[in-house]
Amino acid sequence: MMSLIKHDIKIDESFYKIEEIRHLTDETFSLKMPKARFEFKAGQHISLGIYGDYQSREYSIYSGVNDENMEVLVKEVEKGYFTPKLRKLKAGDLVEIHGPFGKFGMESKDAETGKFVFIASGTGIAPFRSMVRTYPEIDYTLIHGVRYVKEAYDKKEYAGDRYVLCTSRDTNGTYHGRLTGYLKNCTFAPETHFYLCGNSDMIFDALEILKEKGFERDQIHCEVYF
Ligand SMILES: Cc1cc2nc3c(=O)[nH]c(=O)nc-3n(C[C@H](O)[C@H](O)[C@H](O)COP(=O)(O)OP(=O)(O)OC[C@H]3O[C@@H](n4cnc5c(N)ncnc54)[C@H](O)[C@@H]3O)c2cc1C
Repeated sequence: MMSLIKHDIKIDESFYKIEEIRHLTDETFSLKMPKARFEFKAGQHISLGIYGDYQSREYSIYSGVNDENMEVLVKEVEKGYFTPKLRKLKAGDLVEIHGPFGKFGMESKDAETGKFVFIASGTGIAPFRSMVRTYPEIDYTLIHGVRYVKEAYDKKEYAGDRYVLCTSRDTNGTYHGRLTGYLKNCTFAPETHFYLCGNSDMIFDALEILKEKGFERDQIHCEVYF
């Protein structure tokens, strides 16, 4: 185990060096780090701290289980405590990572046999990119709700007929309006499993719509960001 004491903080294997920062929009970026030194299931999240700072926040793992790098997708929150600091990080800076956490992870036996609808608002797309990269053969439809088309993060990675972009503030997506408006008019096979991730308002509204369509609660998995 690598060990070095600096400013009373022990640098051990929970620290990772930022290798690359990809700026995807003015507010949203991804942090690429070395491969995770722990095993995780696609869909799980980590706790991420900045070296020398006492706070940490949760982030879904954006990369696939077998990817060379671990990556997270972050939106800078105006007046937020942590994300403006994350945004200022540069390649070579250290972050502290603990995990993996959460029950949103997908098992390979489910991925191989199931039919899935992924419903994401904003950066809530992160766990689904991990699932799609981990299980390239997975049978999914991804419904992504954002304000503008430019927020379709890494859209090219999803097969065109599997990715539905709902844009509330411009007309160039697949559907103009909130994703819940799109969802209301959809028909899904009875055996579909739904994974919902993002802000709580979207998740509560989507849960109601799926309940009205007759789906059982145990077919629906939720990860609430805020
Ligand atoms: C399990 C889990 C996984 C998460 N994964 C991700 C992820 O992959 N990517 C990601 O960007 N965030 C993710 N989050 C949210 C993240 O943990 C932080 O809450 C977020 O980055 C804001 O931190 P902050 O310190 O800047 O804001 P804070 O100072 O903590 O909060 C400021 C305000 O911003 C609100 N807020 C939090 N997130 C957002 C947002 N995205 N848009 C608008 N308002 C927001 C909070 O509710 C709060 O009212 C996740 C949260 C959880 C619980």
